[in-house]
Amino acid sequence: MARLIVLGSAAAVSNAQHDNTHFVLQGDHSEAVLVDCSSNPLVKLPRFDIHPDTLTHMILTHFHPDHISGVPIMMMQMWITGRKTPLHIYGLHHCLHRVKLVMDACQWDTWPNFFPVIFHTLPERPDTPVLDTEEFDISAWPTKHFIPTIGLRIAVKSSGKVVAYSCDTEPIPNIVSLAHSAELLIHEASGTGFGHSSAAQAGEVAAQAGAKHLVLIHYDVRQEDPAPLIAEAQTTFAGPVARANDFDVFEI
Ligand SMILES: [Zn+2]
Repeated sequence: MARLIVLGSAAAVSNAQHDNTHFVLQGDHSEAVLVDCSSNPLVKLPRFDIHPDTLTHMILTHFHPDHISGVPIMMMQMWITGRKTPLHIYGLHHCLHRVKLVMDACQWDTWPNFFPVIFHTLPERPDTPVLDTEEFDISAWPTKHFIPTIGLRIAVKSSGKVVAYSCDTEPIPNIVSLAHSAELLIHEASGTGFGHSSAAQAGEVAAQAGAKHLVLIHYDVRQEDPAPLIAEAQTTFAGPVARANDFDVFEI
């Protein structure tokens, strides 16, 4: 059974219980795909029996610190612990170009015997193939955020299920398309305003897409009571709604 493991659930402001939003996909064949790298994910993987060497793919949705700030320290830890396995990194040019600049600023060219890193630059257009592994067939859609950003549609081969991830976005038709008939829509709920969505808007997208389950993520953790978020989404979506917490595991 493939799993989606939540490593962080907060919007840009995090706290001790909620890291910034990122997650890992683990398939039946031990392969793991990291989606964003908000802090060092390697410290969280042992509790799920995921060996860092099985983390062979990383998708970066956009170059905002709450999504990519863990890249240098993760890379350094992989290097120091003797990784030899190649790491494939996927994203838009806007993001990957800046990730390379950050790594250059860290002078990673002076780190001897560094493992191979392969960058895959994605075009910014709907239904762009990202990667196709033994377990996951993943495609990307541009979202509407402050900077070029992608949301993801993840087809799970062993179960036939589809998981959709809105990433950071205002409600736009692209998000309905990427979530079409999804078993699980993981949607941000930062609140209304430019470049983001509220829980009620997440519910509207889930309803329009015909998604079966809605999970709210990337929410404001300064509001301590989560119940209003779920209730708000239920005003626009009749299906089951949950709020993601760090270390939640979804069988997909
Ligand atoms: Zn964000």
